[in-house]
Amino acid sequence: MIQSHLKTLIFILLPPVLLALGMGAAIQGSWLPELPQGLVEALPWLMGGLAGVLAFLYGRTRTLICVALVLLVYLGIMLHIRPMAMAPGTDPLPELGYALMTMLIPVVFMANAFWSERYHLVMDLLLRLAAFGGLAGIAVFLAMNDPENMADLLLTIYVPALHWDAYGMPQLSFWSLVLCLGIMGFFLLRRPSPQWAGQWITLAGIGWMLPQLFHTYAVPVFTATLLLILAIAVIHESFQMAFRDDLTGLPGRRALNERLQRLGRRYTIAMTDVDHFKKFNDTHGHDLGDQVLRVVAAQLRKVSGGGRAYRYGGEEFTIIFPGKTVEQCIPHLEDVREAIEAYEIAVRDESSRPGSKREGRARRGQGKGKKVSVTISMGVAERSQDHPDPETVIKAADQALYAAKQAGRNQVCAAE
Ligand code: GH3
Ligand code: MG
Ligand code: MG
Repeated sequence: MIQSHLKTLIFILLPPVLLALGMGAAIQGSWLPELPQGLVEALPWLMGGLAGVLAFLYGRTRTLICVALVLLVYLGIMLHIRPMAMAPGTDPLPELGYALMTMLIPVVFMANAFWSERYHLVMDLLLRLAAFGGLAGIAVFLAMNDPENMADLLLTIYVPALHWDAYGMPQLSFWSLVLCLGIMGFFLLRRPSPQWAGQWITLAGIGWMLPQLFHTYAVPVFTATLLLILAIAVIHESFQMAFRDDLTGLPGRRALNERLQRLGRRYTIAMTDVDHFKKFNDTHGHDLGDQVLRVVAAQLRKVSGGGRAYRYGGEEFTIIFPGKTVEQCIPHLEDVREAIEAYEIAVRDESSRPGSKREGRARRGQGKGKKVSVTISMGVAERSQDHPDPETVIKAADQALYAAKQAGRNQVCAAE
């Protein structure tokens, strides 16, 4: 389980992290060739347009807001903070503007990340714009009205021991960034998804880029890179949606079909079906049934011997063993079957509530501390002269599964 979680994490995080680190290193090490000024200025808008259109098409309002935030930061730096900082005067506003921006960005980023897409696309967008625009409006209003106090609040170095001057960000901003990255990172590690990864890397990237106001490429080229990462995250997330089963997290039917086309000359396929599952649903309710499917899937995912599990549909799963014979696979399948048989699921209150509230209450009373378990039956077949392609192997495995059911369920049957 931990191993597969790690794999998912690497699969999701590695490409965007490498892209960001690679570009960061290229900028810092001046490895980039001389780029025409016009191209440098156009890049963030090109990438912003790409990411924005993709996020809009796929209804990813969170990412759309992220894109808007990145472009706003870019505009803020290029139009406001950089020119003012380049011509320092007596005006305390540029420093305060920078402090305000660096303080607000992590907070808004985090709020946006945790605010899941719920309403109609336009409504969702308007609510977010109102909330974040309102927050920024209030902050700017306060800063304009009482710059001295606001500067005091935002620019003071509260704990000198925890201040890293070379980083060039006010202390409060720095710790707001670290805290938000920490919280978001914790959730990203627990439930990795491309969208979360994109958001986290974008915030970290902004944190890296902000103090480098004067670097020719740091701001525009790195902004474009972050927007490209967001665009990739939208595509990656949609790809996952299409190929991964939402309930169990296993690869779904489409992924299975792809895999079936690329099998070599030797392989074994196991068809798996939960025993008496209709009755289980009728007795314990559909919600607990779903929970059981998640447990079954988690056990199937752990299958050893190089097998890979897919959700075929409903309460049926398929395991593919490339390069293996039926004989070699059976011990691994028996292990999984036994693990599922031994696994007990505690009946939680809400999940034992199939019908009305009253019925739910009654069941809850009965179900306290109760544990349930299920068994599975499996049919296995390998590629052979009689079954020369994946379709016929699956058919043979299905027949073996039927035999396993006939023979009393909770067992593995091999095709003749
Ligand atoms: P058998 O031992 O012969 O397989 O009996 P069975 O009742 O499991 O067989 P059948 O295929 O008739 O029933 C499958 C049931 O699985 C029907 C449906 O209630 C349930 N089911 C299918 N998909 C889901 C799902 O996603 N969630 C839940 N909770 N139940 C599902
Ligand atoms: Mg079935
Ligand atoms: Mg069944």
